[in-house]
Amino acid sequence: MDQADLKSERRLPALAVSRGIGIGHVVFLHGEKRHFFRLDLDAADIETECSRLHSAVEASVRQLRSLATNSDLDPTQPVSSIFGVHLLMMEESSLIEKIETIIGDQKVNAEWALKIVTDQYRDRQISVEDTQLREKYLDIEDVSERLLNALDGSPSPAQLTYSGAVIVARELRPSTIMELTRSNPVALITEHGGWTSHTSILAREFKLPMASGIKDLEQVFSHGEEVIVDGINGQVILNPSMETIKHFHTFGSENIVSDELPTELAKPVRTIDGTSIAIRANVDIPEGYQLAKYLGAEGIGLFRSESLISQSGKIPSEDEQIAAYRQMAEVAGESGVKIRTFDVGIDQLGGDNHEPERNPSLGLRSIRLSLTDTTHFRSQIRAILRATVGEKIDVVLPMVSGVSEVLRSKAIIAEERTRLENEGTPIGAPKLGAMIEVPSGVLTAREIARKVDFLCLGTNDLVQYLLAVDRDNDSVAEWYQTLHPAVIRAISEVLAAAADSDIPVVVCGEMAGSAFYVPILIGLGARELSMNVNSIRQIRHLVSGITINESVALVDTIKSSETAAETEQILREFYLRNWIGLFPAGLLNSKHR
Ligand code: PEP
Ligand code: MG
Repeated sequence: MDQADLKSERRLPALAVSRGIGIGHVVFLHGEKRHFFRLDLDAADIETECSRLHSAVEASVRQLRSLATNSDLDPTQPVSSIFGVHLLMMEESSLIEKIETIIGDQKVNAEWALKIVTDQYRDRQISVEDTQLREKYLDIEDVSERLLNALDGSPSPAQLTYSGAVIVARELRPSTIMELTRSNPVALITEHGGWTSHTSILAREFKLPMASGIKDLEQVFSHGEEVIVDGINGQVILNPSMETIKHFHTFGSENIVSDELPTELAKPVRTIDGTSIAIRANVDIPEGYQLAKYLGAEGIGLFRSESLISQSGKIPSEDEQIAAYRQMAEVAGESGVKIRTFDVGIDQLGGDNHEPERNPSLGLRSIRLSLTDTTHFRSQIRAILRATVGEKIDVVLPMVSGVSEVLRSKAIIAEERTRLENEGTPIGAPKLGAMIEVPSGVLTAREIARKVDFLCLGTNDLVQYLLAVDRDNDSVAEWYQTLHPAVIRAISEVLAAAADSDIPVVVCGEMAGSAFYVPILIGLGARELSMNVNSIRQIRHLVSGITINESVALVDTIKSSETAAETEQILREFYLRNWIGLFPAGLLNSKHR
């Protein structure tokens, strides 16, 4: 190996949250409220980029004019004069000219140029001594936000073709991932985000290698620098030598899970002693189900409908939702799709007419948000009722904490049903399920089970809420313990509650797609597992090699465990002794708490 190469190559340990190898060049994604790229443009694209900026300015000016001259506002009053100031900034200051200069000089996209210029303006303004003048930086942020929104509608020419990027961001929102996949990045690196964070779940769905847990990203990486994301061993390699690149090319291709459709559909899977275990798929895009189906998935066990909400928080119209739900139902066919109603927090929706949440995971989110301002919930329910005509669709309510949310939701569903029937609009009859993922939901699972057609077990949140540990905060990752005795008991209680009411339970958190945990779920009584497409092969292989009796016996042996570590040790030893061939290489060596 070349000495110079050796010197500059650096390896950083990271958390592997999506399997695979990605080799590419760093592109930073900035912004807390919104993410945007820095894109390097070809000289030929600069003119188009400047006209994109001008169209965005024109759209923003039109909005501001109408706001500033709104007849409801008194022109002498502060609100309309604020819009007047914003108009002046757009039309008469040198702001736009400066952005244009940066696009041309640095050959970057309009969003990036806007960020550079507004950051400069803002920093200058914040350092001014006069408090009143200093506060004007808020106006600059407003103008910048308005322009960014306007630019959002028209992608940069480079954006759609941008490929080979390793996206580096402190945190990535799921909606950003959905939008990013259009530009074909090769891998993701973040500071925050564990195995069960939505971003990691989506990265796995899109087969994007991802490493998280790297601090001070801006000090560690430079824009354009070459990196390797090793989402298998959990490391990021900066400035890799040629030899390292070659090694990872080969290693990466050996680890690629084939996307090719098998020649025939796999049959439903059974344990050795003949018990059927239904494998369903967690997918957010219809194409995602195609491979799942060939691998033997029986329907979509979880469609996270909030994946339809845009990065800026825009909720699709009722008709757009109907189209999306029908598409999912059509691909899922006879086995159907379970649509979970929007599981988002108020902060993730557009609009500024609310205080930022102090504690979003415990705040106005999921079913609570749906039941507080019912407008979006009602339109989603109508869309689902209408999409269900001729299709097999079920509805799942997220984050149910007790019977009252189920009853209130049922009342709304009944009202919307009557409304549509009175209008003569054809509707179907979706079944109703409750997602059990908070402790009070577990403790009232028996009562809830009597009011719904099925339960879903959301183990990702169940661990978070039961153990009071933020699933997205890696500084407490050690406390996020799937094998904690409390978690095992909670799962057991939910499965028993459903069995007593004779209704099914779909386990759909990440636990259901991990070979290490599946024998425990089956031993506890789970018969329906819904998982990421990329886990299906592994779980089928495992399920078809075990017996129910062995799994039940295994659960018995961990019943007296006092800690997650003790349970992990018992499981590992049992697997090594009895089922070693059923696990993928390396799985039994890594940590599973
Ligand atoms: C869960 O909480 O386990 C779950 C399936 O939902 P999500 O990961 O979307 O919160
Ligand atoms: Mg959840």
